[in-house]
Amino acid sequence: MLETLSAEIIAIGSELLAPDRSDTNSLWLTEKLNGIGIEVKLKTIVGDDDARLEEAIKDATRRSKVVITTGGLGPTEDDITRKVTARALGRRLLLDEKILAELRERFRSFGQVMPERNSRQAMVIDKAEVLPNPNGSAPGMFIEHEGVAIVLLPGPPREMRPMFENHVQSRLAGKAGGLKVIRRILRVAGLGESAVDEKIAPIYTQYENPQTTILFNQSEIEVHLTARGRTEVEAEALLDHLSEKLEERLGNAVFSFAGEKMEEVVGLKLTVGGYTLSIAESCTGGLIAQRVTDVPGSSKYFIEGVVAYCNDAKTRTLGVEPVLLLEHGAVSAPVAEAMAEGIRKRARTDFGLSITGIAGPGGGTDEKPVGLVYIALADDAHTEHRRFIIPGDRQLVRWRASQAALDMLRRRLI
Ligand code: AMP
Ligand code: MG
Repeated sequence: MLETLSAEIIAIGSELLAPDRSDTNSLWLTEKLNGIGIEVKLKTIVGDDDARLEEAIKDATRRSKVVITTGGLGPTEDDITRKVTARALGRRLLLDEKILAELRERFRSFGQVMPERNSRQAMVIDKAEVLPNPNGSAPGMFIEHEGVAIVLLPGPPREMRPMFENHVQSRLAGKAGGLKVIRRILRVAGLGESAVDEKIAPIYTQYENPQTTILFNQSEIEVHLTARGRTEVEAEALLDHLSEKLEERLGNAVFSFAGEKMEEVVGLKLTVGGYTLSIAESCTGGLIAQRVTDVPGSSKYFIEGVVAYCNDAKTRTLGVEPVLLLEHGAVSAPVAEAMAEGIRKRARTDFGLSITGIAGPGGGTDEKPVGLVYIALADDAHTEHRRFIIPGDRQLVRWRASQAALDMLRRRLI
């Protein structure tokens, strides 16, 4: 069995519970830990609160073989990590004269006298190993306690990161026995979350390794696979095996295998085929053109984009017959097709892509509700359209519509 070592992270600091700060340390640490075969099973954010932190540390050391804390090692009253960890582990805090001398020297080198409260930072938990901090005043600690490794790291990322890389990583890697954890993301378009799960759950539930999670993200479903192996090659092979089976089941709906965005996938297909593209947008107001041109090198295939918002503009710029607009309305299949053909002709491209719809919140009727979108795609042989009713607020309707349009082009290019 490939049992990974399980870790948990405790981010300490009341500022991390405020609405304007987030705990980024644990994201960085998780990636580093995964890289050495350690899986993060739980994260906690605790304010500068003695009782709650003590509880969090006791719980963590009971559950996990590796516990990493960040923050709360500063010199002020609210920096309680040293004191509370000592109490949670039932160990004493001892003054380390060497650290104290180094702290005084650090201040002297800046031409200052060390404030007395900084001497707290020279307090070390009994039998802890001190981790030097060349980028700040708070040293870290590495503690072995009843088979659990407890690591106390400072909060500021520029202090925490080098301390972890220089003094913690290789030691934990030794404990982890060299297992590798590798992730892969499959992105799916045009299918809902439950439809995806219905198709692939019978397959992925048979595998404990890789582990599979399905996530919903704006207008795409992401299938996250996490594999453990003795080597990267072994973990990759496990990922290849399962993702092939999932792709077989999902077919063309999978558009990305290594985290690429839809516009990158479409861009690559256009490049490989040597095709050119022009886009006429109404309800998305240029969003599709923006996404397409976000991709470096898009000038090779993207020729022109037009935002034709009102009827006049659709006629003037794209040559949409006024009678079509009159008879069917701007949000209709015939107008979408005429827009796609119009932009293609105007820009002389292989493909013309168009979109017209009602993004809301106003403007909907029973016959043409908010979220109604027509997308059309023209090439030299024919023009096709698709009709969607897209749920969500204005922003979301627009984003999802842009995704559906790009997906329509992607499917044509397969
Ligand atoms: P401390 O070690 O608690 O004095 O933390 C000092 C500073 O480090 C905070 O004000 C934050 O800017 C930063 N910091 C602390 N914890 C985190 C965290 N989990 N993620 C990102 N930054 C943090
Ligand atoms: Mg703090």
